[in-house]
Amino acid sequence: MRRSSRHADRSLGAALLSLLYPSACPVCNNPSDTLRHAPLCRVCWESITKYEGPSCARCAAPLVSEYAAECGECLQRPPPFTGVLNFGLYAGALSEAIHLLKFSGVRRLARPLGAFLTELTPPAAAGIVPVPVSGRTLRERGFNQTLLLSRVLSRAAGVPVMMDLLIKKRETPPQIGLNARERAANLRDSFAVRGKLHKQRLVLLDDVMTTGATVRECAKTLIKAGAGEVTVVTLARSPLT
Ligand SMILES: [Zn+2]
Ligand SMILES: [Zn+2]
Repeated sequence: MRRSSRHADRSLGAALLSLLYPSACPVCNNPSDTLRHAPLCRVCWESITKYEGPSCARCAAPLVSEYAAECGECLQRPPPFTGVLNFGLYAGALSEAIHLLKFSGVRRLARPLGAFLTELTPPAAAGIVPVPVSGRTLRERGFNQTLLLSRVLSRAAGVPVMMDLLIKKRETPPQIGLNARERAANLRDSFAVRGKLHKQRLVLLDDVMTTGATVRECAKTLIKAGAGEVTVVTLARSPLT
């Protein structure tokens, strides 16, 4: 009796879910089977794991060899941040989920994605600074995904979100197709700090880190404004190309 009512609950839940989210999982095409991270199915969601392979000690770029401590980019151009704590690789179900959050407006994915960040252990900090988007992007998208992720980490770590500290002053052309030097030039002086900082240690949070041009520019801007130290926290790091 008990079992059958539980079964009835489940099928009612599934029916309700298919009404609300008639979509298939974008990774494997099976029907979505849970509200928590729909439209991604359970199997695909559970395929998202923390990257534990060799990575640069400074910027967390995945490395081919475990014998190299730092990547060529960090050796040539030491970054302004102290280190990067990254969760996974920007591939498979994780990249699909971030894409859905960012470009398809599936806001509810911020909570389960943000939960991955709570598996990282950032140093004690005065605040979490979300990488900002420009006013135009904010109007078009309706939210800043790094702010949503920051709130999840903030609640878990008991560190406040410094929401309006760092702003993006102007819209910059997309970084796609640009090399590292062009990316840096594209972003130069596009961020600003509101107010003064007094040697605080900050956590800078971004969703995806590709070449690192964005977090480099943000960290540089924060340190120029008086921050003592910046540690970057990211959800996904692009695999080496
Ligand atoms: Zn799936
Ligand atoms: Zn590096």
